[in-house]
Formats: sequence, C-alpha cells, structure tokens
Amino acid sequence: MPSIDQVARQYRSLCLSGIADYLEQLLSQVEASDSSYLQFADCLIRHEQQQRNSKRVEQSRRRAGFPLHKSLEEFDYRFQTTLSKREVNSLLDFGFIDNRDNVVFIGPPGVGKTHLAIGIGLKAIEAGYKVSFHTALGLMETLELAELKGELKKKINQLLKFDCLIIDELGYLPMNKQGMHNLFQLINALYEYRSIILTTNKAFTDWGEFFFDENVAVPIVDRIIHHSHIFMLGGESYRLKAKLNNSYQPGKVAQF
Ligand code: ADP
Ligand code: MG
Repeated sequence: MPSIDQVARQYRSLCLSGIADYLEQLLSQVEASDSSYLQFADCLIRHEQQQRNSKRVEQSRRRAGFPLHKSLEEFDYRFQTTLSKREVNSLLDFGFIDNRDNVVFIGPPGVGKTHLAIGIGLKAIEAGYKVSFHTALGLMETLELAELKGELKKKINQLLKFDCLIIDELGYLPMNKQGMHNLFQLINALYEYRSIILTTNKAFTDWGEFFFDENVAVPIVDRIIHHSHIFMLGGESYRLKAKLNNSYQPGKVAQF
C-alpha cells in the first residue's frame, strides 16, 4: 500500500498541489464521516478548485498594487449619507466591467472616495477580474517615463491587460502638456474597451484648471463620462471626524 506522502507526491506531479497539501486532513475528514466514494472524489476536486481560487485572488491582489486594504464591509454608510449601500451594491454584479463602463467618485477630501474605489476593486478581484490601482500622479510618472523611453504604447498595452484600472485622485496637481497628451492616449485606448474607476476632487466643469488646456480636457472628460456611473459625494471628512473624536476636549483647541 502506498504511503500518504507517496500519493501526495503523485498529486503534486500532476500539479494538484491543493489536494497534495491537504491529503492527510482530507482523508481523516472522510474517515470520520460516512461519505461515499463519489462524495470523496467530489470533495478532492472542490478542494483543489478552492485552493487555486484563493491563490489566484491573492496573486491578483498583490498585482493590483493597492496602497492599503480597505473593504466595503468597513465602509460606514451612516457617516457617508450622500451615497447609499444599495447604490454601491448595485455595482457588485460587475456589469459595469462587462459593459466597459466607468465609475466616477467626485467629492472633497476625506469623504471615502479612495476607500470605495479600493473596496470595489477588491470585490472585483474576488469575482475573477483583473484590477490595477494607480494614483493619478503615479500613473502620470509611469507614462512619462515610458514616453521618454519611447515605450508609451507598450506601457499602455500592458495596462490594457487589466479589466479595470483604478485612477485615484485626479485633479490634485496640475498637469503639463506632455502629461495630458499621455493621459489622453491612455484614456482613448481604454475607452469602450476597459473600465476605469476614477476618483477626483474636481467637478468635471473645473477640469480645465488642472488639464492646462481645455481642448484636451474636453475629449478626456468626454470619454470618461460617456457610459459612466457618476457618484457625487459630499459631507464631512472622515479623517477630520476621527481627529476631532480623538483630540477634542471642551475648552481646548484641537491640534492638527
Ligand atoms: P478620499 O479619498 O475621499 O479623500 P478616503 O477614502 O481616503 O477619502 O478616506 C479617508 C479615511 O477615512 C480612510 O482611512 C477611509 O478608510 C476613512 N473613511 C472615509 N469615509 C469612511 C466611511 N464612510 N466609513 C469608514 N471609513 C471611512
Ligand atoms: Mg483619496
């Protein structure tokens, strides 16, 4: 009779390491239950699938480059009342990614735009989509570098491999002419082909301010808002609320 180790090795040689790694446990479980042979066969393959799925999710999460872990479960809709949980949940069938639509969160600092973008991105990964997170500034630098090396097209093609690109905090800094041109190339390539989740502190009508040139701002905005779900967020800054809660004492001025 072969030993468990020998059988596990055979599974591993067939790239079934999900089964191989847990073979001993799976065998003890089945011995303790009164499962049929067929149920056991089914249990082995399900286990392999689960293991592969969690590895894939883990890899995709790492590849996405999120700066922080922010889940939708942690999001407090009692604090952020300008958006309902139902509105956010309606995005989680990921029809917007399948239809190559965009999602745009507009609002002042601290109202949860980045949190929502990351939370939705994480759920999309769990659902099997490939997501890539970038701050607008980081993305501009990446594109600029690629452009200097004559590799802008190559870089854009790499980004097009993701189903959904998160561009966080567009609008905090003005952009130069080349930056704008690079961004236009990217947005144009993504248009009706991939989804964007965009967060910005500026209403679309003010985009001319950071785009340096209205003539480029208009076609960029046009491509982003055509087929998009736009959420205007308002309310207080959550950061400020946390600070005030921690440091406010009657008669004392809070220090920031
Ligand atoms: P923005 O991108 O709009 O500037 P963030 O998403 O970065 O704001 O939010 C700032 C901080 O406050 C983050 O730590 C975020 O997790 C937290 N936060 C903001 N809004 C909420 C909320 N409604 N519920 C829970 N945490 C929130
Ligand atoms: Mg933000």
